[in-house]
Amino acid sequence: MMFMATKAPTAPRPRSKKKSASSSVGKTGKLAMAVEIKPRAARSAASKSKGKSSGKVTKMVFSWGNRKAEGDGTMKEILGGKGSGLAEMTLIGLPVPAGFTITTQACAEFYRQDRQWPRGLEAQVREHLVRLEKTCKKKLGAAKDPLLVSVRSGAARSMPGMMETILNLGLNDQSVEGLAKVTGNPRFAWDSYRRFIQMYSSVVVGLSKEVLENKLHTLKHSLGIVNDTDLPAEMLRQLCGDFKMFFREQTGIDFPQDPWKQLHGAVNAVFGSWMAEKALTYRRVEKIDGLIGTAVNIQQMVYGNMGDDSGTGVCFTRDPSTGENQFYGDLLINAQGEDVVAGIRTPMQLSELSHKMPEAWEQLNAVRSMLEAHYKEMQDLEFTIERGTLYMLQCRSGKRTPAAAFRIAVEQATKPLLTAAQAQRLLKKKYLPKKYAKLVTKPVITKDDAIQRITSTDIERLFYPVIDPATSKSDLTQRQLATGINAVPGAASGQIVFTAAEAEQFAAKGHKVILVRKETSPEDVGGMHAAVGILTATGGKTSHAAVVARGWGKCCIVGCGVLHIDYERKMMTVNGRSLNQGEFVTLDGSEGIVYGGELPLVKPELPPEYYTIMQWADARRTMKVRTNADTPYDAANGIKMGAEGIGLTRTEHMFFDTEERRMAMQRMIVADTEADRRAALDQLLPFQREDFIGIFKAMDGRPVTIRLIDPPLHEFVPHEEAKQQELAKRIGVPFEKVRQRVSQLHESNPMLGHRGCRLCITYPEILEMQVRAIIEAAVEVTRQKIKVAPEIMIPLSIDKKELGLLVEQTRRVAESVLEAAGVRVNYLVGTMIETPRAALLADQIAEVSEFFSFGTNDLTQMVMGLSRDDAGRFLPDYVDKAKAAIFDEDPFQSLDQQGVGMLMKWAIEKGRGAPGKRNLKIGICGEHGGESASVKFCHALGMDYVSCSPYRVPIARLAAAQAAIG
Ligand code: ADP
Ligand code: MG
Ligand code: MG
Repeated sequence: MMFMATKAPTAPRPRSKKKSASSSVGKTGKLAMAVEIKPRAARSAASKSKGKSSGKVTKMVFSWGNRKAEGDGTMKEILGGKGSGLAEMTLIGLPVPAGFTITTQACAEFYRQDRQWPRGLEAQVREHLVRLEKTCKKKLGAAKDPLLVSVRSGAARSMPGMMETILNLGLNDQSVEGLAKVTGNPRFAWDSYRRFIQMYSSVVVGLSKEVLENKLHTLKHSLGIVNDTDLPAEMLRQLCGDFKMFFREQTGIDFPQDPWKQLHGAVNAVFGSWMAEKALTYRRVEKIDGLIGTAVNIQQMVYGNMGDDSGTGVCFTRDPSTGENQFYGDLLINAQGEDVVAGIRTPMQLSELSHKMPEAWEQLNAVRSMLEAHYKEMQDLEFTIERGTLYMLQCRSGKRTPAAAFRIAVEQATKPLLTAAQAQRLLKKKYLPKKYAKLVTKPVITKDDAIQRITSTDIERLFYPVIDPATSKSDLTQRQLATGINAVPGAASGQIVFTAAEAEQFAAKGHKVILVRKETSPEDVGGMHAAVGILTATGGKTSHAAVVARGWGKCCIVGCGVLHIDYERKMMTVNGRSLNQGEFVTLDGSEGIVYGGELPLVKPELPPEYYTIMQWADARRTMKVRTNADTPYDAANGIKMGAEGIGLTRTEHMFFDTEERRMAMQRMIVADTEADRRAALDQLLPFQREDFIGIFKAMDGRPVTIRLIDPPLHEFVPHEEAKQQELAKRIGVPFEKVRQRVSQLHESNPMLGHRGCRLCITYPEILEMQVRAIIEAAVEVTRQKIKVAPEIMIPLSIDKKELGLLVEQTRRVAESVLEAAGVRVNYLVGTMIETPRAALLADQIAEVSEFFSFGTNDLTQMVMGLSRDDAGRFLPDYVDKAKAAIFDEDPFQSLDQQGVGMLMKWAIEKGRGAPGKRNLKIGICGEHGGESASVKFCHALGMDYVSCSPYRVPIARLAAAQAAIG
């Protein structure tokens, strides 16, 4: 890893060319996440930095300037993104105004000591300030020709707009005159001073921004002036006087004139902005944790507000929304940094620079190509032009849309940034060093790099519809009803309904519906499937609603606590607003926001580069990727997403599909003699067979793993009296019998109860019916000349003898069907490994099993002794960084590699160690099969395949390739 929190560097780190520049920095975006300092580590780092025993003071300030720098691009964690970028740009020879960085560790220490500067910091800052003054040959705030600086925040992860910056520090009543004289430009000097007073007053002292803005506004208005730039020097001087008077009125003291005091105050303000409410909220919402503080950068000012040969801009080395290889950005002439972002004037397009200041434009193009060649990533840049000379003020890996992420990765791996002619031109002009002229005419990354660069989030976001970005902010704010937990991203809008049955009815009539429930249960899946989005009042990211919806890639918000549902009156109230059944709402599942009304959605089209990356990934991976699919529709969808087979078909889901099927199933359950049960099963058989035929056809010869019935029977029957009465009437048995049977089936902990293969031990006729349906379907499609490869999977086994019995029974039924049909079909019979006992005794289990499939949902529950259905109440605390932080991730989302993973490793070794089982086919079919880190772990364990819901297949394909690349 690039730098350890436990060892605060005391001297500049040697630059190792290979490691620092190209590999670590090149992948800034991802690495930043990988090296986040854990709070615990940070604590020990800080305690060391106090240097209690030796009394030695840690180095807390790092300089850069004149092509030299004490830090570099690898030191993001202590110098922040901005500081390390400025150092790195200096080192590769770009024009960066000199300066120094106060480390994030100093900031952490500042907070530990009750907002006091840590010992030694003042001396170090003074020392580096002197050094900076020497470099610039000017003194901070000097009366004649003053050095001015900016004081800029910058944490290891970018937090746009969250933290503070102060420009033109060092100006006071004398130095402003000096600056006016030495530049011969009083307008510029007074403009700079009024900016400084404005920023200092609001950022450091906390005075109202608006009041000062208004003063500026009123002045412009009274003079009939539109642009700040047209204000004459004299007026700006008056404005400064006004500002200072306001300062005095509000604070009782004069505006600080001593540059050192100004600097001290500004540094405190930047430190202070780290814990400002908005910064805290931003970090919480963006799930940024593990950062210890912000760095502070003190940098010589360059002036974009010196006239029409000056300006400032923000740009991207490629178009961040499409990824097109085109220099893209905004430019303001005669302006200082903040103006572009603040939107004070409408900026012009960056390309305008080529007419306005052709030389600066060429220089900037050279910088663009050098930075891409160096960082091997699309960069987001800030620059200022002072009287025709270009200065770089910031670079970082640029944020981009998912589509752009794919295009950039593919183009960086296949095409050069510049044509040979473009490079030659810049070389001749001496803007581009020779070394770079070569680099920029070749692709800067490999295909493997491109594969590594795409994240699972990039893929996910590519597929989900989103609220039309053209929708205005104010419209959104007005429509916002409530927020909940963003369980499944994407957006959906539709009419609200409150029961699964109504969801199905409405949907059947062609309505788009949002199913709103307190929570959902397996009985609701029909309605959930019919809905375009799901909203629940309770539950977390692993609740039934969330897990099921995720499987379908269906927009879902859970845990929306302010939601009150009145099922009787078919209405809900949120924050005092009532909505009746049939009213429209729009869900933003990515943000977890519920809006009133029907907002326009757009479905992003898949960019061609997506297919390219996936093709590269498929060529690279060694593990197969299958999909979990319960219907022919899911199966076809999985294939479209690139699945190579089915790893899990949950046969019981077929029983929920229609009223007729549910009824047959319930009749089977209520039956209390084998004969009655068989009669009911006979009704189910044709449905199952039809579904299997559909699935086999869709899979066209690819392997299909079919799991026999799994959930406990009580999940299939109604629990309310009214529903039981209705059921009794419909299947023609006395109500009392239904009630009795349901209470008899009642289990207090269904996850460990009468389910999985235990059902078939008790009711062998269920297994018989299911196997018959599978094999008859296989016979049918074989007759239609379609290849078929069924794998019959027995869930929840715990013992070789138990499994042996069921395997034998399965074979007996299968063979008798095949014999009667006179057709040969190859099929496998295997088991899921989802109980700890099965994992422990995997060598015995393997003797009677033709394959293993890890059911990591149940395995996780049982290894950890926590039920997934109840975990939502306390598991979040286990993951919450601010609370217990026991696990890094929810073990139901990302596999617990340590604990559950150890059992899996054991089971694989034991299973493949059994006689004749060296090549035992092994896969995974839990939720984890579609989660990047878990897929990589499965690769490392030597699994043959992973299986996941259709929408996660591309994520698994990519992760498998990334794992193979290593
Ligand atoms: P943010 O992180 O919000 O972008 P910055 O620290 O980058 O804040 O600064 C805000 C603006 O001020 C930027 O446009 C930047 O380019 C400009 N700026 C910062 N330091 C200087 C400087 N030394 N000279 C000129 N402009 C500067
Ligand atoms: Mg910036
Ligand atoms: Mg299971």
